[in-house]
Amino acid sequence: MNLQERDKKHLWHPLTQHKLHPNHLPIVRAKGCSLFDENGKEYIDGIASWYTCMYGHCNEAITSKVKSQLDQLDHVIFSGFTHKPAIELSEALMQILPKNQQKIFFSDNGSTSVDVAIKMALQYHFNKGEKRGKTIALEGGFHGDTFGAMSVSGLSIYNGPFEEFFIDVARIPVPTTENVEAVKQQFEQLLKTGNVAAFIFEPLVQGASAMSMYDANLLDELIVKAHSYGVVTIADEVMTGFGKTGKNFASDYLQHKPDIMCLSKSLTGGIAPMALTTCSQKIYDAFYDDEIGKGFFHGHTYSANPLTCTAALASIELLQTEEIQKNIKRIKASHQDFNERIKNHPKVASTRQLGVIFALDLNVKMERYGNLRDKLFNHFMENGVFLRPLGNTIYILAPFVITNDELEKIYRSIEGVLNTL
Ligand SMILES: *Cc1c(COP(=O)(O)O)cnc(C)c1O
Repeated sequence: MNLQERDKKHLWHPLTQHKLHPNHLPIVRAKGCSLFDENGKEYIDGIASWYTCMYGHCNEAITSKVKSQLDQLDHVIFSGFTHKPAIELSEALMQILPKNQQKIFFSDNGSTSVDVAIKMALQYHFNKGEKRGKTIALEGGFHGDTFGAMSVSGLSIYNGPFEEFFIDVARIPVPTTENVEAVKQQFEQLLKTGNVAAFIFEPLVQGASAMSMYDANLLDELIVKAHSYGVVTIADEVMTGFGKTGKNFASDYLQHKPDIMCLSKSLTGGIAPMALTTCSQKIYDAFYDDEIGKGFFHGHTYSANPLTCTAALASIELLQTEEIQKNIKRIKASHQDFNERIKNHPKVASTRQLGVIFALDLNVKMERYGNLRDKLFNHFMENGVFLRPLGNTIYILAPFVITNDELEKIYRSIEGVLNTL
């Protein structure tokens, strides 16, 4: 039996209706921007394997450090113990995070970093003797699949079985220049109840919502309002973090910084899962007390695993190199040129870009995961390009180390598909 048949016997894949999509392609090796299947066919990883491997697959600047860490200290409990990889990671983060972020809490994935953020916000008010239970989120947001994260996510089409068990959430539309006054009014109505604990958002780019984008100044207005009512603001930068928007963090575009930030995905350069919830001194101070119960009693077994911390530290060092910073500018300019090539194509309804994130909407009506998606996906794969269209949106979020030739290959395959529609 080949790998694909063996896979079918016992494996249950994420986000998959197995009856409709029984086949999963075995990948045996990856290097730089390329994935290789069993037959040696190469695919350019146009979405950096869900925005994680931004420095290229198996980057030796990361793997060599992880390998030597592996012989030094594999793991130790992070409650009562500490270690150099975690300490150095915290110091490196302080160099690049918005200045108000002062404390770093570890967990294992984007969803848990969001759950941690929500719990921090709820307990922040609780510790101050205020009962506030509601979280406000943006429509169309995605924050993960654990209960808290799922509750604040606005993409609820597949959340039907769970909706009645969600935490208390209210949603407001994403602000645009047209609706911002109405959104602010609706926001204020909610804030006035005095029951709002937190406001969570994906800053500037809603990844799962087909890379939809909105302006920093509009988000700034909402953050100012939230802060004026003592509401804790949470920037979910799990997708946008670490250079993808053209700055280290999407929050760097904001005048008013969030109280809490959630980080994961490319944090470790795709080597291993890890997430961080960072917060300001003000949040931390509400937990710092003689009373033990005011502490934050949340913990994951693998918190701050030394190997993963080492991978994260190496990734952050790479992000700050001149080479990667130059690449970010080069990819950004390259996408702008590509935009000029295709924006007037009759099959292109609209395009958008922030940093190295580029998206185009097709001028074709369809269901989010209908047949068109499979048609596009298969076309790209046959061309040796891995892209993952969402609805009628095609987007590129390739590793920072992608070459111009590899970019051109992605662009050509997109142009190719436009001409078949
Ligand atoms: C992917 C993502 C998450 C969830 O992260 P997981 O590691 O998949 O749990 C949360 N928020 C945003 C913005 C994401 O893009």
